Amino acid sequence: MTITEKVAYIQGLFDGMGLDKSKEPQARVLSEVLDVLKEIGDEIDMLDATLDEHGKEFDGVEDALNDLTEGLTELEDEVYGVEDDGEEDGEDDFFQVECPNCGEELTIDGEVLEAGSIDCPKCGQKLALSFDEDEENGDD
Ligand SMILES: [Zn+2]
Repeated sequence: MTITEKVAYIQGLFDGMGLDKSKEPQARVLSEVLDVLKEIGDEIDMLDATLDEHGKEFDGVEDALNDLTEGLTELEDEVYGVEDDGEEDGEDDFFQVECPNCGEELTIDGEVLEAGSIDCPKCGQKLALSFDEDEENGDD
């Protein structure tokens, strides 16, 4: 129910009471109050209409923001997704491991994988490549 409708409803109740405005001061006051309420209702209706118009403008802005957000999400997927895919799917045939001896980053490529081991170029430590994950998960 809108304000206007409520006011109309109260006006109806008021009329139904059969009060004589010219004789009853309370009735006069109520009548005045109802007039003011009617004006307020009209004002609010006008404001609602104005807000509705602006609402459409806001919808446009919202659509634009949604597009922008979607674009950003896609970009994000692209940026982070490629990196993840590379590691998890092994599309790129190499990955990096840290030398346990000196901390040097060693690139493991297909060649190294085939050889099964790599010599750290920094400290000369020989690293055996193992795909047995149980070894790595050993102690916590
Ligand atoms: Zn090393």
